[in-house]
Amino acid sequence: ICFSSILAFAMPMSEKALIARIRRKAVPGRSIVTGIGDDSAVLKIPKGHQALVTTDFSLEGIHFRREWHPPESVGHRCLARGLSDIAAMGGDPVAAFLSLAVPARLPQSWVDQFMQGLLKLAARAGVVLAGGDTAESPAGVLADIVVLGWAPRGKAILRSGAHPGDRIYVTGELGGSSATLNLLFKAKKRLAPKDYPPHFFPMPRLEVGRVLSRDRLASSMIDISDGLSTDLMHICKESGVGAEVNKEAIPVARNGSPGRRVGFPFALHGGEDYELLFTAPAHKCIPARIGGIPITEIGGITRGKKIFIRSADGSLAELSSRGWEHFRN
Ligand code: ADP
Ligand code: MG
Repeated sequence: ICFSSILAFAMPMSEKALIARIRRKAVPGRSIVTGIGDDSAVLKIPKGHQALVTTDFSLEGIHFRREWHPPESVGHRCLARGLSDIAAMGGDPVAAFLSLAVPARLPQSWVDQFMQGLLKLAARAGVVLAGGDTAESPAGVLADIVVLGWAPRGKAILRSGAHPGDRIYVTGELGGSSATLNLLFKAKKRLAPKDYPPHFFPMPRLEVGRVLSRDRLASSMIDISDGLSTDLMHICKESGVGAEVNKEAIPVARNGSPGRRVGFPFALHGGEDYELLFTAPAHKCIPARIGGIPITEIGGITRGKKIFIRSADGSLAELSSRGWEHFRN
């Protein structure tokens, strides 16, 4: 049964009833001994594996606006944030835990569609919703997602593994999500989510992460949640290295009108694309595509601590990190 077809129309549904409804929709999975319904979830950890745990807020007014983002998109993006963090470690996501606080007057249909968006992505990613918490919020929707994953012992790909001489790569195209956000700010109107999937329904690069880990290709990795300039800085800081990026090589997203590219600053600084940024030793052969997702080489890791960007004319400029906050205003 479709989640929304069994719904009542007005909030508040009681906490108990809401949990019962979520429980009916959350399918069991092989690693879950006990999911929703007990005081804690009980999970089997496969032999020789380590647990990966990540947690992310989705707050109304900060990460989404109810007038801009349909509830399915909010639910999808809420889980996508957590899945992307697991992807960035090269791990396998297993279970998600959702702490959800909603205002008493929020329509039940909003919650149902939020859950539908979240559970649809969970099913695609092979993740079980195995628990959470439910409460009334004094103002606005607040959702916190915890995602648990596994990686074979010692195989998780860290931010700290980049070495001078390594090449730098990104998956997919950059800037699509933040360019859409900019449109939402400027146009002050609704956009059709199906026309702007990178913003409304980003797909975490789980398969790419898994292959990079399995084949020991990447030396360091991070997901691009804050923007390329900021997330590359995170890798450089953690690894104690510098970087040089080729401006022309950065894959700039197409967005909305087919064929047109978004402005370059969105690709360089815009956040929430949930693509992967990784480094690999120069002798490793990195496939042009993994799981259908294009991989682009954008530069190299250097000695020193600074990040430079090289233009087509050969000139070099220091790259400052102007991540997500830049687009907030
Ligand atoms: P407790 O009092 O032990 O916190 P709850 O009544 O809050 O238990 O939750 C009962 C069960 O429902 C638990 O298994 C919990 O993980 C699950 N649960 C509560 N809220 C959610 C939610 N929003 N999403 C998924 N599972 C939830
Ligand atoms: Mg509780």
